[in-house]
Amino acid sequence: MMSGFMEYQMFIDGQWTPGLTGDKMEVINPATREVVATVPRGGREDVDRALASARASFESGIWANKSVEERAQVLMNAAMLVVANKERLAYLESLTSGGTIRRTTTVDIAEVAGTLLLTAMILKELPQVEHTFFSPPWVAPMHTFWKREPVGVCAGITPWNFPLILAMYKIAPALAMGNSIVMKPASITPVTTLELAKILTDAGVPPGVINVITGPGSSMGNYLAGHPEVDKIAFTGSTEVGRQIAHQAADTIKRVTLELGGKSPIIVLDDADMEVAANMCLLGFLFHSGQVCESGTRLFVPRRLQDELVERMISKIKKMVIGDQLDMETDLGPIASQEQLNTIDRYVHIGKEEGAQLAYGGRQLTEGIYEKGFFYEPTIFINCHNQMTQVREEIFGPVQCVIPYDDVEEAVAMANDSIYGLGGGICSTNISRAQKLANRLRTGTVWINTWHVLRPDAPFGGYKQSGYGRECCYHSLLAYSEVKHICLDLTPDGDDKLMNLLIGSNR
Ligand code: NAD
Repeated sequence: MMSGFMEYQMFIDGQWTPGLTGDKMEVINPATREVVATVPRGGREDVDRALASARASFESGIWANKSVEERAQVLMNAAMLVVANKERLAYLESLTSGGTIRRTTTVDIAEVAGTLLLTAMILKELPQVEHTFFSPPWVAPMHTFWKREPVGVCAGITPWNFPLILAMYKIAPALAMGNSIVMKPASITPVTTLELAKILTDAGVPPGVINVITGPGSSMGNYLAGHPEVDKIAFTGSTEVGRQIAHQAADTIKRVTLELGGKSPIIVLDDADMEVAANMCLLGFLFHSGQVCESGTRLFVPRRLQDELVERMISKIKKMVIGDQLDMETDLGPIASQEQLNTIDRYVHIGKEEGAQLAYGGRQLTEGIYEKGFFYEPTIFINCHNQMTQVREEIFGPVQCVIPYDDVEEAVAMANDSIYGLGGGICSTNISRAQKLANRLRTGTVWINTWHVLRPDAPFGGYKQSGYGRECCYHSLLAYSEVKHICLDLTPDGDDKLMNLLIGSNR
């Protein structure tokens, strides 16, 4: 396994490129706070330069004019290279984001390679041209068809929790449809997006079609999001920043997809298998130590079952290994940053102050192997109600809020009483009953008796303030294309029927 300090540059126009400011940002291992890499702290000139490169590549047609088969082949080549570089990518992803190596080597790599492969397959099947026949008496015979074209220059802005997967959810459909793209990864986890750009270039993506710039979101990301050279922006991150981006995009009517925050409800029904429920609820809030947008963090449970379910969850938590994310035996890695650790702790304090009852955890781990890193105990609050701050707001950490209910109608109403609508779930042994309730949850995804199962061939996205647009599947390919209608007069002989209608046939 590789190790040692790494000094990265930006990736612009097919080349490793130093930042124009000369400033650097440090990338740390969140389990040890050790600086493992540096990247350029880019500024506005770097954004301009990357967008100019993307624009030039787009206008040249070097990628956009390639056939569907050629673009699909490059995506498939890239999938093979991702698999060939699996160890390096998974290691870097774990090292910098805190995700466990057991997960990154399996789930993350499979999802990244799978997204490339499936996008290539869907691209080849997606109708690029559609025809129609329309021949009313007032026009001559026309050949009328419409075709898909790329949007142009796209900007992708991603958060720090799943840098590889979330970058690929944008890059694959953008490239598939012939766009050029500039990616801006989160400041604390830029390394694997840079590595992806190099892999895609090695796979055959021409210079300028994929660019990665590094720098702070508040200055560089903000400038990118409002830039007139950007035709489409694809943003994954907090609802707060998503709102700003939607405002900025409005000035030049950019195409926008927003994948934002969540506070996803799990409804355990009274007929649920308690073992299944305990597993589902733990998976829901502890995957990647809770730093997942679709985490199930509002747990509605029949009042009489609350104690039994929570006891089962706690006994499983006690067996979990929390520690070094690079160790294959670790179940829960560190929180990604000091800032996020502070946020989690602040919400736990608010929960206590607002009267939620702490059933487990509730503190930062600071001793022994945890001394230098950002570790937080899995935390369960019970006897919460749906109006408490820590129940309403996204925490983005390993904190579960259990809300007992007496009537399932009340549970559904509370589940939908949220500004968010990303994920939702039902736990029940009665599948028909669960499906009926799934239809009533106002969320982009509903899991029944499981959680977090995302697939590159299934659409993912949010209702309400969890965003708009869908990633993955053919939905994302549509979102990276414009539709052009071409209408061709098949018999242009000077006798234009529509013109005659306008000016009268005698004149
Ligand atoms: P964030 O919104 O703070 O940052 C996301 C990205 O935006 C980063 O690259 C950041 O540098 C950049 N950014 C920050 N301010 C900006 C600005 N003013 N203009 C342009 N770019 C700016 O989010 P985060 O803390 O990195 O990630 C956690 C959030 O992401 C959570 O809310 C989580 O729910 C959300 N998320 C959503 C999904 C999804 O698919 N819906 C997936 C993962 C994470």
